[in-house]
Amino acid sequence: IFTQVELAAADPILGLTDAFKADKRTDKVNLGVGIYKNEAGLTPILKSVKQAEEILLATEKSKSYLGMEGVEAYNSAVQGLLFGADHEIIKNKRALTAQAPGGTGSLRVAAEFLMRNTESKTIWVSNPTWANHQNIFKSAGLSIEQYRYYKAETHGKDFDAMVADLKMAKTGDLVLLHGCCHNPTGIDLTEAEWHVMAKLCLDNGLVPLFDFAYQGFGTGVDEDAQGLRIVASQVPELIIANSFSKNFGLYNERIGAVTVVADTESNAVKAFSQVKSTIRGNYSNPPAHGALIVSTILADAELKLLWETELTEMRERIAKMRTLFVETLKSEGVSQDFSFISSQNGMFSFSGLTKEQVAQLKDEHAVYIVGSGRISVAGMTKENMPVICKAIAAVLA
Ligand code: PMP
Repeated sequence: IFTQVELAAADPILGLTDAFKADKRTDKVNLGVGIYKNEAGLTPILKSVKQAEEILLATEKSKSYLGMEGVEAYNSAVQGLLFGADHEIIKNKRALTAQAPGGTGSLRVAAEFLMRNTESKTIWVSNPTWANHQNIFKSAGLSIEQYRYYKAETHGKDFDAMVADLKMAKTGDLVLLHGCCHNPTGIDLTEAEWHVMAKLCLDNGLVPLFDFAYQGFGTGVDEDAQGLRIVASQVPELIIANSFSKNFGLYNERIGAVTVVADTESNAVKAFSQVKSTIRGNYSNPPAHGALIVSTILADAELKLLWETELTEMRERIAKMRTLFVETLKSEGVSQDFSFISSQNGMFSFSGLTKEQVAQLKDEHAVYIVGSGRISVAGMTKENMPVICKAIAAVLA
């Protein structure tokens, strides 16, 4: 049977990591996948996470199965981070949350739940968007439409085009919105634009599906939830897929959550029963460790403060790298204006480099970035910056 199977194309992001690992050049730099590196170029375990693990090691008594929805304390902590404690949605029990394996697993559970149980079978995603979105939604059977988001000429957002395209969406269609730190552009909606988006969804019966993978990497934990909270305060039904891969550095623990917000408590209960059924048919119930780490940290005032301090450190280091990147490009003789990089949010910078230039960076300079021109600023350090910028200057010359 396998002779008929076609070889899969390399994944646009993880395929790069494979190629990077196989590269024998010693001065190689991987700015493909979104993984935070510290100034020493390492991705260490957060201190808050280590301390939570020590607590768990001493107190955990069983490795028995979790329920389909995962750790209860974790699920309510997730809602606190998303909406802020005491939010009307929480008080009225309109939201139910299920722990799921990372942002990817959460998006997949959400998509499959929607496909099987609702009339929402089309999802609108931004152009461009995270390379795995189409793969996830197609795998779940959803049809995909794109809305314009980015204007190459200005290296900025095209909000008018976004609105014009979403006006063509039909009642019940899903709209994928990046909660903050839009991947790959690093360009987010303003407060006023979030209000416009909320009204558009409300007026036209569109259902927002939030992908919230970078809470705390933009401006701050609460600040980054502003768009979600604006939409959630106006639109009665929405779904959120969030991830703690980046903001807790828990990449390989695969920890995230899918949260369903309904107009009433009873509708939330019905929807959630089908979310659980979707989980049962996929992996039965989630692994515990990542959720226990997060819920241990968020339940302890001191650990929570330590986590927030560590998150701020990560965010501020990336911001410094953005500035240094723009300055170093200049000092390496690049005449194009790259100042737009300083105002982008999150881990990535959408450089505007062409596919050919990206290939040249890899082939001639061992600098790996995603084919769309997306560069992981979170992988830059003072040490590798000159190598990166010299390479970019060479391909732009
Ligand atoms: N959504 C976006 C926008 C992402 O960038 C990522 C991670 N790169 C994810 C979801 C998935 O995160 P996870 O690794 O937790 O599955």
